[in-house]
Amino acid sequence: MKGSTDDTLHTPEASSIAMTLVDTHAHLDEEGFDKDRAEIIERAVAAGVVQMVSIGTTADSSRRAVEIAAQYPQVFAAVGIHPNYLTHVKAGDWERIEELVRAPRVVAIGETGLDRYWDTTPFDLQIEYFQKQMDLSQRVDLPFVVHAREAEADVVTELRHAASRGGLRGVMHSFTGDLPTALACIELGMHISFAGMITYKRSQALRDLIQEMPLDRILVETDSPYLAAQPVRGKRNEPSYVVHTAQVVADLRGLPLEELGARTTANARSLFRLPVP
Ligand SMILES: [Zn+2]
Repeated sequence: MKGSTDDTLHTPEASSIAMTLVDTHAHLDEEGFDKDRAEIIERAVAAGVVQMVSIGTTADSSRRAVEIAAQYPQVFAAVGIHPNYLTHVKAGDWERIEELVRAPRVVAIGETGLDRYWDTTPFDLQIEYFQKQMDLSQRVDLPFVVHAREAEADVVTELRHAASRGGLRGVMHSFTGDLPTALACIELGMHISFAGMITYKRSQALRDLIQEMPLDRILVETDSPYLAAQPVRGKRNEPSYVVHTAQVVADLRGLPLEELGARTTANARSLFRLPVP
């Protein structure tokens, strides 16, 4: 990110606002972070990433996310089972998720969703667990985190089904669908989160779509350790890199980075009910 000591980069108004960002989707429990997790979180905070949500993908990973959140005041946890891990679900895993939901600093259910790209999980099993996790979200009044890969239309169908039971509060994470899908999700009450992918040259359609999104529904994320943004592409992704994605969104919307940061931070805090530190 641009050095805050270089006054020429900032207008007086901009430099008086401290830069804040929330990385709404990171897999901080991944093994690749075991050696230097504390340093990574420190680097994120130094870059203005004041809060981050560590997302579970299995019962074990969800438990680790809860443990990490207990350890670092900037980290919160989401607990759930990712569609690509459903064939590994053991007896009792779902009950563990239902229990973990009540742990301190758990702010969301997920990640859940549908994936037709990795053909590893029967699709009806994916739908069953997607509905189960949306139902849990409605019962415990926590938002849910949706992964959609080559299954956008199916996701919208399932969201509509869940919406017939009650209100939806959730986020389409690392959104890569088209404009009608994004608008349908927003109409159903969802937020739309953008990751490093929007910084890639081939992602022009996504950048066009960002211009059409209501500003109060946009979130930013890294999905670290996967798919780092363009300037750091190929490196292990980490929460501090969310600034690269935020910068692209800010440029597309003609806003200073600090203002885009403030707005997406407010969106993340309202969706996940994060405390203002
Ligand atoms: Zn993820």
